[in-house]
Amino acid sequence: MAYSRSSRLFGAMGACAAFAVALTAGLLAGADPAAAHSAAHSAPASGTRVQPDRVSPRQLPKEPVMTGSGGAVSSVDRDASQVGINVLAHGGNAADAAVATAAALGVTEPYSAGIGGGGFMLYYDARSGRVSTLDGRETAPASYNSTIFTNPDGTPMDFNTVVNSGRSIGVPGTPALWAKAASQFGTMSLSSLLRPAQTLAARGFTVDQTFHDQTAQNAQRFAKFPATAKTFLPGGQPPAVGSTFRNPDMAKAYAELRRDGVSSLYRGRLAQAIISEADAPHTAAGVTVTGGKLTASDLADYQALNRNPIHSDYQGLDVYGMPVPSSGGIAVAETLNLLTAYQERTGARLSALTNAEYLHYFSEATATAFADRNRYVGDVPGVPAPELTSQQFADERACTFDPARAQDRPIPFGSPDGTYTGCTGTGSMLRQPYEGASTSHLVVADRWGNVTSYTLTIEQTGGSAITVPGWGFLLNNELTDFDFVPLKPGVPDPNLPGPDKRPRSSMSPTIVLSHGHPYLALGSPGGATIITTVSQVLTEYLDRDASLVAAIAAPRLSSRNGAAEQAEPALLNSPDGATLTRLGHSLVLPPAPPEIGAAVGIRILAPNLFTAAAETVRRGGGSAMVVKPGR
Ligand code: GLU
Repeated sequence: MAYSRSSRLFGAMGACAAFAVALTAGLLAGADPAAAHSAAHSAPASGTRVQPDRVSPRQLPKEPVMTGSGGAVSSVDRDASQVGINVLAHGGNAADAAVATAAALGVTEPYSAGIGGGGFMLYYDARSGRVSTLDGRETAPASYNSTIFTNPDGTPMDFNTVVNSGRSIGVPGTPALWAKAASQFGTMSLSSLLRPAQTLAARGFTVDQTFHDQTAQNAQRFAKFPATAKTFLPGGQPPAVGSTFRNPDMAKAYAELRRDGVSSLYRGRLAQAIISEADAPHTAAGVTVTGGKLTASDLADYQALNRNPIHSDYQGLDVYGMPVPSSGGIAVAETLNLLTAYQERTGARLSALTNAEYLHYFSEATATAFADRNRYVGDVPGVPAPELTSQQFADERACTFDPARAQDRPIPFGSPDGTYTGCTGTGSMLRQPYEGASTSHLVVADRWGNVTSYTLTIEQTGGSAITVPGWGFLLNNELTDFDFVPLKPGVPDPNLPGPDKRPRSSMSPTIVLSHGHPYLALGSPGGATIITTVSQVLTEYLDRDASLVAAIAAPRLSSRNGAAEQAEPALLNSPDGATLTRLGHSLVLPPAPPEIGAAVGIRILAPNLFTAAAETVRRGGGSAMVVKPGR
């Protein structure tokens, strides 16, 4: 590594010193230093019944940042974060709390998360010191082939028509992921972890502006499906801000999963209900949509999978991310490697650059990483992940970087072939695939040192708009994450649909370790912008000396190798925006609301001492909590 650590990274090394301070101060409740040390390294094993913490959980306010001990949760929603805090306070670990929080998000964020969708989880286990992953991505039916979304004349089918149809619905992976997370990493039964969500669905939650607006934006397509209109447009209208929204059908679905286990959704009554609705959706008078092709064996064969995480080194920190079928871990790692290479080439550290210069470096790195991910990453054998995430590949790709001028877009893809002697990047240029901007992310850290970073989705806000009648949950439209036709004729496209295939994702749950200790966990929703958001928050925090909540709040730039780059208004309309334009960046606002992502993170300051952080403004602000506020 050519550079010594930035001041922030010296801070990371300082975590060890803080650890010592924490031990001396006895920050672990009622513990002497030796007990504190052993508690930090003796998380309860899976299946172990743990004694509830003596602290009774408090109702915590909705805040974007909170520091304290006993465990931490950050999500977009207050009710969901509180559910996770309650689980931690009653002795659950980071996996238990993540499953319970996610189930609650299924109730309060039903357009972004829920049992009709999928997602990816990273888990750091304090006992083994290892990061594991769970892939709960949806799968295509076994009958799908590469032309399932192609018209007879070879053109792609109309995107929105496919979204709002049974064709876009993949086998849900979220329930299988929850079951596996609870049994492999957790200490509590899945049934007990789903109880708070069931109660929340039955008793209801207070409608906020975001829930109201998301319903209103989707009202037209929701009205096409009677079960969706009945559930989410009570009285034919989006629920009013401040009213109580109940979903008794969803409470019934959670009760079913608690009683019969997730096998109900893969082999039982819920499976039957999903297949019937996906393959022959009930529609309003005069509306016809194409049915899906899900079969009983598509659902029965589904499995959430353990996969090896993507690992990279960024300035001495170990950064872990999600592997294929997500492109998130690979693209974040390549972005960070490119930034390292640019700094070596120019001799200028990110910490020493102006904000506009930093964003220029950042934009060039993410655009390059997207050129490579679009060409090479998908749910196919032989993805060159080790090469794409190697520093040598990034060093070669950095040869076209110019600190004084933006490279022409699209940047050609590189050659991750293991031989890095020249300045390649002569591959064909590819147009950008479509991806939505929805989803939800949550992070949890517990007092034993375990950490979870988990992104879950039903793809678009409102998914396919098809609700399973009588069960109150929306089905995903995840299969529209496949490319409908090859991005460029004659160039292999790893993300075409196929039998049992998982569509490529951008979800980037991330865990960072420093000297083998958990240091930071973060993630964001936002489709393809997830990769740029996670990379930006990481570098704003690690290199630019922002606090975590400020790194999350910073105006975002999302450069994904298209002709134009999305910049939030606070950046686009600023002197930095003007400087970027002068450097050759073509900035445009993101679609309304003009926001990019909705990140959450937890900085593990010392064993059992956390700062949880969330959005201050985006999506109405997030909810960061700790079990025992205060240092
Ligand atoms: N389907 C997207 C992905 O897997 C996530 C959905 C979104 O955030 O819009 O990357």
